[in-house]
Amino acid sequence: MKSTFSLGKIAGIEIGIHYSWFFILALITFSLANSFFPTANPAWSAAARWSLGLTSALLLFVSVLIHELAHSVVAKSKGFPVEGITLFLLGGVSNLQAEARRAKDEFIISAVGPATSLALGVLFLLVLVLIGGDPLASTPLQSGVRALSPLHAILGYLWFINLLLAFFNMVPAFPLDGGRVLRSIIWAFSGNFATATKISARSGQAVGFMMIAFGVYQVILGNLGGLWFALIGWFLQSAAGASLREMEVDAVMKGVHVRDVMRPSLASVDPGMSVFDVVYDHLMQDGVRAMPVCEGDRLAGIISLTDVKKVHRDSWPATPVREIMTAIPVHSVEPHEDLSDALGLLAEHSIHQSPVLYEGRLIGMINRADIIEYLHRRKELGIGSRNA
Ligand SMILES: [Zn+2]
Repeated sequence: MKSTFSLGKIAGIEIGIHYSWFFILALITFSLANSFFPTANPAWSAAARWSLGLTSALLLFVSVLIHELAHSVVAKSKGFPVEGITLFLLGGVSNLQAEARRAKDEFIISAVGPATSLALGVLFLLVLVLIGGDPLASTPLQSGVRALSPLHAILGYLWFINLLLAFFNMVPAFPLDGGRVLRSIIWAFSGNFATATKISARSGQAVGFMMIAFGVYQVILGNLGGLWFALIGWFLQSAAGASLREMEVDAVMKGVHVRDVMRPSLASVDPGMSVFDVVYDHLMQDGVRAMPVCEGDRLAGIISLTDVKKVHRDSWPATPVREIMTAIPVHSVEPHEDLSDALGLLAEHSIHQSPVLYEGRLIGMINRADIIEYLHRRKELGIGSRNA
């Protein structure tokens, strides 16, 4: 999830907002101002109800942010790179760049979020009780007309909503936190990451479909709040389905190495060659997006269509390759590496190809189009790797 704009950093973690967040902020403010606060105290003016609604909605998102910060800070402390946190339509999401490699890490990183929400809920509840509030009568759970103070009503909402967040997130449906916890437990006992993912993602799909059905049923009964349930259910089942497909791709790639897919090529260009010659002798002829640039048998860099496009056509003949190439160190792979790792490298850096180096010497190139073509053929033929 890409943020639309940034709120700055907390504990070294980038906090951002996606524009869809404003919609949910407005919706929650609206629903609090028109359903909870009028019953909490009918004496409040519309202006008071709306400002209490906005304050409560903002505090809810502070709570969601603290939940996400707990995930991110723990992930970071375990050595996982964290890209940042994004607040969006359905709450918050921590953008972790890698999956945990050990069941124990995944368990802790996932469980700490709901645990934090639970702790926040208990904290707000304690404060409410300490200042003399009635825990149940201060929540939106009770629909009767009361005469609450603004502070009691806000605390009543916050303890209730944080406990709700804790419990909803612990539903064992991947990719909710509870689904990740379930996966880490199955993974720890079975030692099989793929099986663990499959089971928890299927559970995610099932829960998602049940939420859609329940939501639609509510809408039929005339309760429009059901739309919300259906939307979250739809999001859940589609995210779970995407994880399953990702597992399938991983399974197809299992046992495949860079050397199986690379183009073994000894063709390279000289740093002194003109861009014009590279374009017409190589890029337009060999069906490649990039050429390695070598001095002797040592890689000096790589020249790609992206580099060429930075120079005006008229300047191609007079521009040597060395001026516009991406010089070393460039991202490279080794022939014995797993194809999935190589594909991950290309995706992570948004690059189309990478040189393959063996003991520092160039022995070929690997590119995205070839990888996709290779995987298609394997799938079509239904075969595993040569040795499998
Ligand atoms: Zn969470």
